Amino acid sequence: MNRAKRTEIFERLRAANPAPKTELAYTSTFELLVAVILSAQATDKGVNKATARLFPVANTPQAILDLGDAGLKAHIKTIGLFNSKAKNIMAACRILVDEHGGQVPRERKALEALPGVGRKTANVVLNTAFGEPTMAVDTHIFRVANRTGIATGKTPLAVELRLLRLVPKAFLKDAHHWLILHGRYVCTARKPRCPQCLIADLCEYKHKTPAPPQADAAAKDGERADAEAISSAGEMKSRH
Ligand code: SF4
Repeated sequence: MNRAKRTEIFERLRAANPAPKTELAYTSTFELLVAVILSAQATDKGVNKATARLFPVANTPQAILDLGDAGLKAHIKTIGLFNSKAKNIMAACRILVDEHGGQVPRERKALEALPGVGRKTANVVLNTAFGEPTMAVDTHIFRVANRTGIATGKTPLAVELRLLRLVPKAFLKDAHHWLILHGRYVCTARKPRCPQCLIADLCEYKHKTPAPPQADAAAKDGERADAEAISSAGEMKSRH
């Protein structure tokens, strides 16, 4: 894919959703960190339900330590893998209190040293909380980047590094949100909604979902709905 196409893709995604946000609910960097740890192999919706119970009770590292293992588990037991996530969160809180004055560090190395925090989670925190132009490549971004040809690669890290090199600077900070939302709602794993896709004419995927009969009118309606869906999805869920 050439640079002009890539630029046009991000211009359209930006026009549809000028200020994209994470769908995880949070009001502080620490809350975001906990929500991202909890979100591994879980839906944002499920995480938001659990954190809506947890955060009013405990939303600092010390408060979670005070809650204790059993107390934390009681709040997050609706989330998959909650036992190991609770263990990681408790251990991460201990490090935050002992080594970082109860604050979430801004350095990748310090973030990745926290239990339950890998490169992807560190990228989300660095981008969403600290405004760094990082690219947290999850399953959605990996799929969209490869299908469209925006940045191809065999591993999430390869795609991440290509995106960092190839996405025009003006779009770098928000690119990961646009790509996640596009993958979640339009370029879905099974049967992507190509006839309704804002960037179908620029996408280089060879196996696009064909438009149904009477496509013209439906596609136009869908295109409008698509732009609205992405736009409102970005606005709805984040509490700031
Ligand atoms: S045209 Fe289809 S494959 Fe390409 S980005 Fe849009 S939904 Fe995905």
